[in-house]
Amino acid sequence: MSKDQELFEMLKGDSEHWHEWDDRPEMSPFETCIHCGVSRRYGEKKYTNPNLTTWEGFGWLRKAMRGRGDWFDFLVWLGFCQPFDSQEATLKLFDYFTPTHFRAAVDDYFQEVQIN
Ligand SMILES: [Zn+2]
Repeated sequence: MSKDQELFEMLKGDSEHWHEWDDRPEMSPFETCIHCGVSRRYGEKKYTNPNLTTWEGFGWLRKAMRGRGDWFDFLVWLGFCQPFDSQEATLKLFDYFTPTHFRAAVDDYFQEVQIN
């Protein structure tokens, strides 16, 4: 299981799942998700899973983390104490991260804090 899938499985919403594609029949131009049954042309960029090292994936991961009850615990764990002393400090938090750094931080947090 990839790191992206591992984090996705921990944080996904009730209506979300990680698409996994069947071994398409020989000569078939289509592949089908073994969980929800959607089909796509082989190689088509449709029904893709979040890539957490892209900005789009960063958005997914940030939203998922903010939806948890320990968002501020996470920020404090990262070293950003609440309350932030200035708007500048708050903005700095988001300037600091890239998708790759943010994914690594979330992973480290879960390794250390041990979620349910
Ligand atoms: Zn699916």
